[in-house]
Amino acid sequence: MRDCLFCKMVSGKIQPQLVRTTEECIAFRDIHPQAPTHILIVPRRHIATLNELTAADGPLLGKMLLLAREIAADEGIAESGYRVLMNCNAGGGQTVFHIHLHLLGGRQMTWPPG
Ligand code: AMP
Ligand code: ZN
Repeated sequence: MRDCLFCKMVSGKIQPQLVRTTEECIAFRDIHPQAPTHILIVPRRHIATLNELTAADGPLLGKMLLLAREIAADEGIAESGYRVLMNCNAGGGQTVFHIHLHLLGGRQMTWPPG
């Protein structure tokens, strides 16, 4: 997708602060971190929202979650705890329409979220 910010990061046109790359995903630090650790896990394939996912994407979603878990361990927040979430559409707080998991940690997370 030509005008998608995260597709530009996948292609290298824009260079985020990468923490991991895999065959199917990239992970980088959020530019406006909401916690000491705030990393985005992004599939290389353009998928606009959670609503566009199908059963065939199950393995990809599993890999995204497992990558979040591995990065949490690398960041030293696995034991203290962390939050993984995906916003969907405007009402869910989504601003970049290429799906991504947020990995947040390094501080006490509160509930309910804003
Ligand atoms: P969401 O609101 O769930 O769509 O999340 C989009 C996230 O992308 C926000 O947390 C933004 O801070 C983050 N973001 C936007 N532009 C950039 C960028 N150039 N590099 C890294 N993160 C970004
Ligand atoms: Zn995209």
